Amino acid sequence: MSKILLAGGAGYIGSHTAVELLEAGYEVVIADNYSNSCPESIKRVEKITGKQVQAYEVDVKDKDKLSVIFKENKIDAVIHFAGLKAVGESVEKPVLYYRNNIDTTLTLLECMNEYGVKNIIFSSSATVYGEENPVPYTEEMKRGTCTNPYGWTKVMMEQILEDAAKADKDMSVVLLRYFNPIGAHESGIMGEDPQGIPNNLMPYVAQVAVGRRDHLTIFGKDYPTPDGTCRRDYIHVVDLAKGHVKAIDFVFKNKGVEVFNLGTGTPYSVTEIVTTFQKENDIEIKVEYGDRRAGDLPESYANADKALNVLGWKTEKNLADMCRDLWRWQSNNPYGYNQK
Ligand code: NAD
Ligand code: UDP
Repeated sequence: MSKILLAGGAGYIGSHTAVELLEAGYEVVIADNYSNSCPESIKRVEKITGKQVQAYEVDVKDKDKLSVIFKENKIDAVIHFAGLKAVGESVEKPVLYYRNNIDTTLTLLECMNEYGVKNIIFSSSATVYGEENPVPYTEEMKRGTCTNPYGWTKVMMEQILEDAAKADKDMSVVLLRYFNPIGAHESGIMGEDPQGIPNNLMPYVAQVAVGRRDHLTIFGKDYPTPDGTCRRDYIHVVDLAKGHVKAIDFVFKNKGVEVFNLGTGTPYSVTEIVTTFQKENDIEIKVEYGDRRAGDLPESYANADKALNVLGWKTEKNLADMCRDLWRWQSNNPYGYNQK
């Protein structure tokens, strides 16, 4: 059975992907430095699946330590989730972001090259479409101008991976451009566990609901959208995770580079999100309106046809599922994995 290395696999998307890969019969090895996660998420993966996961505490930038994983395991493919992802922080600490995100990618590629591993899936983002491209985004559009260093790291890493595949015709690279993953595993024991004040909408909403924060501030209500608040393509994290299983099947059968949007194709506004969360969970969320957040685009959503046509993947869960599953996780684990 093929063995997949999940770099950054203890994190939000990585842990959900580990579950889906294990359930599809793959073996999983995780490499994580727990800079934005903790080993407990891996225990939850094991609990859900009843299978063991081999985990290494390593900084993926540390080539000596990363090599040990390749030495000890016959890795068939890598999924590269390891990265820093807070947009605002990336503006304040650009060098940290470029160093961490680019170096993890280069180190993984060096190890793959040395150990003859040819297949890699990369966690990219809708942010690479930048400011210029019109919605809905399609994969053949040119990468655009990003509004922050985090986005630029994704653009650069896509380029690095494309160049690596150009130089080695045996390589297979899949760039997955995620839209807005939200929700949690339906078991209620695995979900997103942001450290500190959440940057993203849904974790913030969930923390208001559970009483950890007083109110949600909606950033701007004068956008050129139907209700004046920004619209995004929210996707259930389990649907997203299943997209990785399809992408793994694909990398084993193909060579070269392929890009896929992983989104639903349907945008929802901030107001619609809050309303649905309240209705589905019968909880009131206190809301205030604030200024626009720098760098936010009015709308971002996918054309998800390519993933359907080529990978045979489409989302199965709707916004109500996302809101209910998020609340099941947050209400069962008000302080995430490290219960107070
Ligand atoms: P996350 O922070 O939960 O997971 C990332 C994991 O990588 C964490 O466990 C962290 O500890 C680990 N990590 C970071 N730097 C590392 C290093 N140098 N060595 C070892 N481990 C390291 O984030 P996530 O939401 O699961 O995102 C996974 C990937 O998907 C990231 O690359 C992110 O940029 C990308 N992405 C996320 C979103 C989103 O909204 N969550 C959207 C688009 C793309
Ligand atoms: N948002 C908001 N209040 C918050 C966090 C986010 O109004 O506390 C809005 C934000 O302006 C954006 C949407 O919610 O329009 C999604 O933001 P998020 O940070 O989750 O994702 P991204 O900006 O990456 O699309």
